[in-house]
Amino acid sequence: MSDEPKVYAPDAGWRDMAEGGIIPQAGNAVLYSVAGWRLEYPVRDNEACIDCLFCWAYCPDEAVLQVGGSVKGQPIDMEHCKGCTICARVCPKDCISMHPESERVEHGQGG
Ligand code: SF4
Ligand code: SF4
Repeated sequence: MSDEPKVYAPDAGWRDMAEGGIIPQAGNAVLYSVAGWRLEYPVRDNEACIDCLFCWAYCPDEAVLQVGGSVKGQPIDMEHCKGCTICARVCPKDCISMHPESERVEHGQGG
């Protein structure tokens, strides 16, 4: 077996991964889309949002985008949101709602 780390293509699926494999290159998840995992997608009510950044801090996939310490009006990265609902559950203003992926339309704010 080669000691060289295997480099997976960005569109590689889990069936392509070696059993017990590791991912030695930190940060390479940015190359991998998890959009296909999503059953529900988040939509933020920007009017109700108080920019506490809880959703940004708790999102396990860095899919909640912010600029200058503000998420209001910024999109949610739909290539890296897996629909886990954590952002909606931690929001103190209940201003993130989850919607069926099958009904997804472009809202211009992350959903
Ligand atoms: S649903 Fe999960 S992955 Fe998507 S933005 Fe919210 S916390 Fe992040
Ligand atoms: S958790 Fe809710 S109130 Fe806080 S920044 Fe996110 S959407 Fe806005």
